[in-house]
Amino acid sequence: MSYTVPKLADFSAAALDSAVRELVSALEQESAAVSSENDWKAFRDRWIARKNGILTQLNDLWLKAAPGPNKRDVGQRVNALKPRVEQAVDATLARIQSGVSSGKLAAERVDITLPGIRRPLGAEHPVIKTMNEMIGVFRNLGYSVEEGPEIETDFYNFEALNFPPNHPARDTQDTLFIAGQESKPLRDRLLLRTHTSPVQIRTMQKMKPPVRVVCPGKVHRNDALDATHSPIFHQIEGLAVDTSITFCDLKGTLDHAMKAMFGSSVKTRFYPSFFPFTEPSADVQISCIFCDGKGMRDGAPCRNCKASGWIELLGCGMVDPNVYGFVDYDPTKVSGFAFGMGVERIAILKYGVDDIQLFFQGDVRFLEQFG
Ligand SMILES: [Zn+2]
Repeated sequence: MSYTVPKLADFSAAALDSAVRELVSALEQESAAVSSENDWKAFRDRWIARKNGILTQLNDLWLKAAPGPNKRDVGQRVNALKPRVEQAVDATLARIQSGVSSGKLAAERVDITLPGIRRPLGAEHPVIKTMNEMIGVFRNLGYSVEEGPEIETDFYNFEALNFPPNHPARDTQDTLFIAGQESKPLRDRLLLRTHTSPVQIRTMQKMKPPVRVVCPGKVHRNDALDATHSPIFHQIEGLAVDTSITFCDLKGTLDHAMKAMFGSSVKTRFYPSFFPFTEPSADVQISCIFCDGKGMRDGAPCRNCKASGWIELLGCGMVDPNVYGFVDYDPTKVSGFAFGMGVERIAILKYGVDDIQLFFQGDVRFLEQFG
């Protein structure tokens, strides 16, 4: 409380007005600082106590001290200040009383015993998490990551991968075409890519061997929704091309990757299959991670592997020499392998999820289990 009533030496109108302004400004500041009933009592006494309150001091220091000709001016101002100060004292009391029950002060009050506001941290979606784990396994083997467009031409999605027009292998991938392209040549027509394999072609077009890449991404097929099918899913495709790559390298690489992903006791086995862009081709199974490959669990047949002890997980093979013709590689000098797997399928196994649609419904109760 720094304000004290000054003794006046100059009683001109300008000096009086300035002294009044100073007093009113002090009154407002002190009123605003009052926050409790005790504060307010001190504030009231300081300004309007009969004995030595500021209003009383004005009578002594300003009015009685004023020379005769100025008394009228000073008296007018002091009289105007009286109701003003009394009003301020009443208004201050009203403010703190309403603040105690409701109103502004109550709303602004901070209850430090309440729990704080928790901001939940985001977490990787289980599909992206699985994808990143898989990519990590191959990065450690020296693979780099390549990506490509989700809208592809027929050429990259099929033709360059050795699916000739009208070849029955195209029927295994129920494809979503962009409408209204009948006037274009077949190879230029746009479609939603049905696999990440077109990225292999794009990579080989811009890189000379040795090539070691993984291509993660989203793919689309015209599949009806059910517990194991979705019109949208993710794949990771791998490609290695160099001068003397053999099927042994392929087996060793995938065996290592499956052990890194599912544990060192997992076994792999390869059996013949068909893909247009690899020759020979194989499907890869891993020993069932639920029954340790025994086919029986808790005295009953294992449902996850249908009691076979094996789970089919991915497709692979040696790159068909025809494919090298599309990307200007010399098939007499280079060889390589390719493999591809569905990310949701791996996530389903890893996390014991029983419906692929859970991954795409965005239900936070499901997703936060992976945070
Ligand atoms: Zn099993």
